[in-house]
Amino acid sequence: MTTTEERTRSDVVVVGAGPGGCATAIHLAKSGLNVTLLEKAEFPRDKICGDGLTPRVLRELAYLGINPETLSWKKNRGLRIHVAKSRYLLEWPESRDFPSIGMAVKRSLFDHFLANQTIKAGVNLVTNANVCKSVEQQGRITGVETKDGRCFEAPIVVACDGGSARLAVSMGLHRIESRPMGIAVRAYFSSPASNQDWLDSWLELWDGTSKSPRLLPGYAWSFPLGDGTCNVGLGLPDAARYRDIDLRDTMSRWLMSLPDSWGFTPDHQLGKIRSAALPMGFNRKPVYSRGLFLVGDAAGAINPFNGEGISYAMESGRFAAEAIIQGYSRGLYTRSCERAFAGYASRLGDEWGGYFWLGNLFGRIISNPHVMKIAAHYGLPIPVVRNLTHRMLSHVVDRPSRDTYDRVVNTLTRMVPQA
Ligand SMILES: Cc1cc2nc3c(=O)[nH]c(=O)nc-3n(C[C@H](O)[C@H](O)[C@H](O)COP(=O)(O)OP(=O)(O)OC[C@H]3O[C@@H](n4cnc5c(N)ncnc54)[C@H](O)[C@@H]3O)c2cc1C
Repeated sequence: MTTTEERTRSDVVVVGAGPGGCATAIHLAKSGLNVTLLEKAEFPRDKICGDGLTPRVLRELAYLGINPETLSWKKNRGLRIHVAKSRYLLEWPESRDFPSIGMAVKRSLFDHFLANQTIKAGVNLVTNANVCKSVEQQGRITGVETKDGRCFEAPIVVACDGGSARLAVSMGLHRIESRPMGIAVRAYFSSPASNQDWLDSWLELWDGTSKSPRLLPGYAWSFPLGDGTCNVGLGLPDAARYRDIDLRDTMSRWLMSLPDSWGFTPDHQLGKIRSAALPMGFNRKPVYSRGLFLVGDAAGAINPFNGEGISYAMESGRFAAEAIIQGYSRGLYTRSCERAFAGYASRLGDEWGGYFWLGNLFGRIISNPHVMKIAAHYGLPIPVVRNLTHRMLSHVVDRPSRDTYDRVVNTLTRMVPQA
């Protein structure tokens, strides 16, 4: 899927064509910059994810000029939370800043769709380009090298290569070990629940293989894909706390506790249970340094409240693109240009710093299944607590505030330090 004759010199090189890389590249190309997007895989490719697209993602699609109404992916109305025998329906909030609708689609389709959009926008997409290191001059990145020895040069490079963050590491930008790193597993099941209008979420997981009741750590989901299948998974927000746990085994044990009517039985399972990391709460910094921008999972930009990362990857890509466009317009390498680039870090801090700080704390507390159980049992039945929790966790919050729930979330996130 290489678009044009392979170009080795560009205004910007973007590494990784996931949601973060595609969004960054499209915004940049639309501004007239010459962009090369390097991707190690060939599309379509699988990606371990829950496949849930929240209202935040739909807003980012609109910013890219893609009207979600024209897409045939399975829509949903919000979350259905399961706690013991109770069910709580939490519709996506009415909002000024976000649409009140979500979607779910396999990442193999979603990412392929976005990759095609980059080509339409004039991006030079090069697949089968596995970037192994940065090329530097006088301590500043000036390009990247692929495993097969090709070199792609640009004064600005954007790392969107996901949780492995290989490029950032090659520039000496390592993970902040004190910040939480989540882990999650998922598998596809053919299921009668595939056409339901809600994203199902379980906050209390019981071991279906144990004779006496035994609580398992984590939260679980089933996201209906509308194609006869559901994406079913289980996540742990603070993996360090459960180093020895086998998450695939935990998921199998939890699945045994569900009624067969869901169809989440081994004979309906399509493929293996697969796992991947959730780099959360800004666990890699600085997000701009010496010509290199970090976007999405490479910046540890997954929401620690809920494990959502697609929208934050696309949104941080938009912020990075805006800073780069500003910088270019002021003249590369000038002080004014560097100030514009540095503005990317402050922008991320202003937008999500306080929220992610609270999320990092929340993830640590709630990763104890007994605390999660008590909070869910006593908090969720109270409508005010339920609505506030939903607003906080979904992060569908208007700024400036539109109602009291927005005001509480916005005030809290302003009161705490930035992550
Ligand atoms: C089990 C699980 C469930 C999840 N569920 C959800 C969910 O339902 N909703 C949600 O919003 N988020 C979810 N997430 C998080 C979400 O998957 C990520 O946050 C999101 O994919 C981040 O996008 P990205 O563009 O930063 O990185 P990625 O999507 O990881 O994309 C990185 C791209 O870079 C490429 N690449 C990597 N290394 C190189 C290299 N060296 N050279 C060239 N290319 C390279 C990769 O092939 C890939 O295409 C989930 C995560 C997990 C693990």
